[in-house]
Amino acid sequence: MPEPTPCIITVAITGSLPRKKDNPAVPITVSEQIESTHEAFEAGATLVHCHVRNEDETPTSDPEKFARLLEGIRKHCPGMIVQFSTGGRSGKGRERGGMLPLRPDMASLTTGSCNFPNRVYENDPELIDWLAAEMKKYGIKPEIEVFDLSMLFKAVEMVKEGKIDPPLHVQFVMGVKNAMPVDREVFEFYIKTLHRLAPDATWTGAGIGKDQITLNRWSLELGGHCRTGLEDNVRLDKYTLAPSNAALVRRVVDLCPEYGRRPATVAEARAILKLPPWPPA
Ligand code: ZN
Repeated sequence: MPEPTPCIITVAITGSLPRKKDNPAVPITVSEQIESTHEAFEAGATLVHCHVRNEDETPTSDPEKFARLLEGIRKHCPGMIVQFSTGGRSGKGRERGGMLPLRPDMASLTTGSCNFPNRVYENDPELIDWLAAEMKKYGIKPEIEVFDLSMLFKAVEMVKEGKIDPPLHVQFVMGVKNAMPVDREVFEFYIKTLHRLAPDATWTGAGIGKDQITLNRWSLELGGHCRTGLEDNVRLDKYTLAPSNAALVRRVVDLCPEYGRRPATVAEARAILKLPPWPPA
């Protein structure tokens, strides 16, 4: 029997919500972020999902901060896949893609709108097209953030229209309050639908809060990749704060053997996502 696909572990180090008060381990400054990413990389993460913050913790899309973060990660975590967030808290409209000329390996792209805990997560069709066009222009692979099924259909349509280059990489996000809850049957249906519409696609599962580990387990079991990190969850369990992003990465690494999986190396992660090889030829 062929070996099961190694698991790409994404670490979402910071996020855009003020979390320092919930857990002081959330890295805020660029140097804290580089250090936290390096620790997570050593623990087994091969992809880092990044937001940047101002000193007062408010989110920003300042390209200068993204540039310093990218440089630090490339230096200290050779081959690690760097993904910038184009999520909605860091700026208005096109500001959210202002750092794409820095050419990270990947960037997040949410292909629709939905409700979040205290607001509408707004992604109008014109902005989605513009972000996708910028990613294409700079050779950046999008990670499609799927908060509900319509976003998956939209991404497949964009491939057909030539707005996104295949193969798709999709992340199914569950457990954001007021968006799609954590539901096993829906999760399986997402995967089945992805396989039907885009047989060459790859996918990651992301769960928010206490359900981070639920989605880690389901993704390992069903052949997908895993996202963890302090952006989505700041606790190891009900009683224990996660001491670092690396601790959350280790939790996934430790789960892998239960499902006959192992963490991917950077070379494997790049091959699975059809990104340029590391080290460069
Ligand atoms: Zn994010």
